[in-house]
Amino acid sequence: MKFDCIIIGSGIAGLWSAKFLNEAGKKTLIVTKNQVWDCNSFYAQGGVTMAIDENDVPIHIEDTFKAGSFHNKKEAVEILSKASLSLKKELLDYGFKFDPGVTKEGAHSVKRVYHAGGDATGRELHRFIFKKDKSYLLDEAVVFDFLLEDDVAYGVSVLHKNRKYNIYANNVIIASGGVGALYKYDTNARTISGDLQGLAVEKGIKLKDMEMTQFHPTVFIETRFSQKLLLTEALRGEGAHIIDENGKRFLFEYDKRGELAGRDIVSRAIFLHQQKGHKVFLDVSMFDEEYFKKRFPTIYQKLRDYDINIPYEPIPISPAFHYMMGGIEVDINSSKVLGFKNLYAIGEVAYTGVHGANRLASNSLLECFVFAKRAAEDIVKKNFKTDNIEFDIEKKELFKKEDKKYKNRLREVMWEKVGIIRTKRGLNYALEFIENSMDKVGYLTKLRFVTAKEIVKAALKREKPLGTHFRKD
Ligand SMILES: Cc1cc2nc3c(=O)[nH]c(=O)nc-3n(C[C@H](O)[C@H](O)[C@H](O)COP(=O)(O)OP(=O)(O)OC[C@H]3O[C@@H](n4cnc5c(N)ncnc54)[C@H](O)[C@@H]3O)c2cc1C
Repeated sequence: MKFDCIIIGSGIAGLWSAKFLNEAGKKTLIVTKNQVWDCNSFYAQGGVTMAIDENDVPIHIEDTFKAGSFHNKKEAVEILSKASLSLKKELLDYGFKFDPGVTKEGAHSVKRVYHAGGDATGRELHRFIFKKDKSYLLDEAVVFDFLLEDDVAYGVSVLHKNRKYNIYANNVIIASGGVGALYKYDTNARTISGDLQGLAVEKGIKLKDMEMTQFHPTVFIETRFSQKLLLTEALRGEGAHIIDENGKRFLFEYDKRGELAGRDIVSRAIFLHQQKGHKVFLDVSMFDEEYFKKRFPTIYQKLRDYDINIPYEPIPISPAFHYMMGGIEVDINSSKVLGFKNLYAIGEVAYTGVHGANRLASNSLLECFVFAKRAAEDIVKKNFKTDNIEFDIEKKELFKKEDKKYKNRLREVMWEKVGIIRTKRGLNYALEFIENSMDKVGYLTKLRFVTAKEIVKAALKREKPLGTHFRKD
């Protein structure tokens, strides 16, 4: 069967583009690695940023620029913020209901973050949109090759139930998310490992701003799973304090905005304070228990399961890798990968330039919605058809015996040397490790190494600190 469009990834970017393709009668296939809900979108807690009204658009734009250290692409930020007004209506018309009231998160100057299910915005949105989806679905299938010739995409190769095969389409959308699994501590879903950014590089496609990796300051890392528990920005936005073992709110020593400073500043301050031998906690004791339970039900339940007496007991926290600002560069009008006629990239895997050197909280779901729609509209408008060409299947060995060992070591090296504070020496160490390891692993793991190498190379190249990229030397 040949499809009008293959979408790689079942997060909100993928599902939202499918919505418009479905409505236009396009035969669409969503291919996803594990289960549909195994994606970062499902775990988004805080919400979706949408400008309150026309008057708020310039203020939202300014906040986005400030958070991004003015490294953002101006035109992309304008598209993002203006489109947020129509998105609100679109979601309401589609039948989605946000919780009453909007909230404020770090570095937003007004309350404009819309949430649902308390702290389960991603889960509520994902479930709602997926329920209405009419695409074909191939789950438990890993894409390991793009079928490309010149400037045209013909489909993808998948590994599904131990079988490799090609699937063909007139258009391909990459919506495969970020790179969380490259880091020892991360908040991301287990499926998010940056393989397709690596595959893009293998295919000669350029990535941009890969040094711009965001670390979330408030993460509960004392869990047994590799995915650590994020404690949403909204907690600090609504009054939670960051304290050390002496109860001191030490953030003010680093930035006068204290808890409401941008994520990079707060993450760095916590990291440095920890390096001085302190323990760091999130104090939520100012919240009434009933309010907390209703407003942050997921966090409340999960921490109670870990025997933390919420909201009375301070929560031990650490920063952790959270979000990738860089990615596959696209044309912001069509979401098309630069240089291609029918290959698109949307959501966290894409670089649109909206986030600059650091993402403003809750701008990423907004980016998914806005640019996913643009991709779908472009596909419908262009109605591009590919010739029926057959491709051989990539013969490379996908797995090798020692993959796990190398993956874990990579996670450690990335956390220690390519994390919150970077030096030339540390980055060179990481580069050497990556170059020496990448041919010892199976092809799927190698793709992670290729992505990691892009991050390290970009971090080496940018010698001065900017936003979330902090070079100590
Ligand atoms: C814990 C957490 C909380 C967050 N909270 C917020 C928030 O409140 N507000 C906000 O705006 N943003 C938030 N973010 C960020 C936001 O959730 C993500 O940036 C966004 O959901 C990314 O959506 P996406 O559709 O691009 O990718 P994802 O939702 O991550 O989906 C990627 C999909 O691609 C699939 N995939 C990957 N590789 C392959 C492959 N090789 N083959 C097949 N399939 C593949 C995955 O299985 C998955 O289905 C949060 C992120 C996390 C982790």
